Amino acid sequence: MQKNPWLMDRALGAFLGLAIGDALGATVEFMTAREITARYQVHNQIVGGGWLGLQPGHVTDDTEMTLALGSALIASGGWNQRAIADAFVAWMRGNPVDIGNSCRRGISNYISSGNLCVLFAEENGGNGAAMRNLPTVLVSLESEELLIRRSLEQAHITHNHPKSDAATAALACMTRRLLLQGEEAACDQIACDLIAQHPVFKFRPWPGHASGFIVHTVQTVFDGFFNTGSFEECLVRVVNRGGDADTTGALAGQLAGALYGVQGIPTRWLKRLDPAVTAAIYIQTSQLLNLSAE
Ligand code: MN
Ligand code: MN
Repeated sequence: MQKNPWLMDRALGAFLGLAIGDALGATVEFMTAREITARYQVHNQIVGGGWLGLQPGHVTDDTEMTLALGSALIASGGWNQRAIADAFVAWMRGNPVDIGNSCRRGISNYISSGNLCVLFAEENGGNGAAMRNLPTVLVSLESEELLIRRSLEQAHITHNHPKSDAATAALACMTRRLLLQGEEAACDQIACDLIAQHPVFKFRPWPGHASGFIVHTVQTVFDGFFNTGSFEECLVRVVNRGGDADTTGALAGQLAGALYGVQGIPTRWLKRLDPAVTAAIYIQTSQLLNLSAE
């Protein structure tokens, strides 16, 4: 595809931003904002720990599933829903440090039935499909319509829920516009459209929940993204809400990284990220962009 000069910087920003949000947020996952303040005042360093007892800079299922999805697309030389499901199976069998309930159920369902789409279930309204979708954006820059169709295909391997679908598509389209146009204004319309269709996503003022329910996750991510002026400010605002902080951090990092680019990510965070993850992200980002046909 025709590469504009900033595309690689923004795409790397989005992918590294996602991993950094995961690594930063995991420390305070499932804590309340009050507990975070009592312990850290402001949590703004990648120090590991948290309920998973992570090494500093290590990531969780959010980044791992994203990399699994990306590696499936690279190995397939393009879009391949079954290869994605197989990559999720391999990942789950490797005993990941963490895995969400819907992801475990959906992947187990695929193992036993070969079915690439789970049935609708009310409890599938979690953020697990949205959190891993970045590689889909990187291989689908040529068309928003194509991006939405593919996003829902990968989502439905584990999550089949109208709110998860709407949010996964909206976050994908926002990231795509940021990568191509680099303007926050390009995202406003997508957020407005999402809220017009599903008013439950309203995030002004922030409604006060940062859980793994996709509605709470999106509200927390949008509140951070639209109300701050830098990558650091956005991530710090989001993860200090606690709750599902590694996943809100990952999604906020994806959007903010796409807007501000690698240049906008604090060096102290880039240096702290697990070097194996950094290396995988550099390789995948350029290979995935090469799969976008434009
Ligand atoms: Mn996680
Ligand atoms: Mn999480």
